[in-house]
Amino acid sequence: MLKGKVALVTGASRGIGRAIALELAAKGADVAVNYSGSEQAAEEVVKEIEALGQRAVKIRADVSKSAEAEDLVKQTIEALGNLDILVNNAGITRDNLIMRMKEEDFDAVINTNLKGVFNCIKAATRPLMKQRSGRIINISSVVGVLGNPGQANYVAAKAGVIGLTKASARELASRGITVNAVAPGFISTDMTDKLPEEQKAALLQQIPLGKLGKPEDIATIVRFLASEEAAYMTGQTIHVDGGMYM
Ligand code: NAD
Repeated sequence: MLKGKVALVTGASRGIGRAIALELAAKGADVAVNYSGSEQAAEEVVKEIEALGQRAVKIRADVSKSAEAEDLVKQTIEALGNLDILVNNAGITRDNLIMRMKEEDFDAVINTNLKGVFNCIKAATRPLMKQRSGRIINISSVVGVLGNPGQANYVAAKAGVIGLTKASARELASRGITVNAVAPGFISTDMTDKLPEEQKAALLQQIPLGKLGKPEDIATIVRFLASEEAAYMTGQTIHVDGGMYM
């Protein structure tokens, strides 16, 4: 399905990013595994991809820094020969109520979750435009459309990702590049496992399907958007959230 394609997945050493990297590889893509934390975790993902018979490389980069994002794309192409699919998955939370939210926590979340997506799209645009094809898939969040108390920074960034998806979809469409977003609901990963139990119980009440999602629930939709089957879709946000937003 993705044979001969090269994918770059940001924040791919764990959680949803790891599941996306493995799913794309399982369908035949070679994958650049971006990480900013544990090198060992990234190396394990590389080994899992190689065991699936695909090429993989781990590349350290902080996507919030434009020079590092540029270098990330450059290193992907040097190591794997091309770039066809960019998945902007890296993200962080720094939750607090607005009146208590520190400026640095607002900035850190915007810089990683929104500017980081812009940095990687900008870096990938030239090589993708040159080959007149490509797929960009951005990971937003259900809270980007619903809002969430205590997450003003995260909500603003994830709503921004939806706008950025539409703007870049319009800008890049004539070059054969599609840009779409996936908005997960609450998915069981390190990001949500740290939530207090009572908050998790309250969240479950808001999910019509009555359970948290798995990273693989997001990965399969990203794989669809990366495939030929999604060739006529651009600027869209697919909600994968157990029915939270409808
Ligand atoms: P996670 O914390 O398990 O993984 C996030 C990954 O991003 C980590 O590998 C981390 O090292 C990496 N990262 C963080 N800052 C980075 C930076 N500056 N440069 C490069 N990499 C960086 O979280 P997750 O739950 O797997 O989340 C993945 C994405 O999905 C995020 O964008 C998150 O906002 C989004 N999301 C998650 C949920 C959920 O319920 N888990 C819901 C909606 C959206």
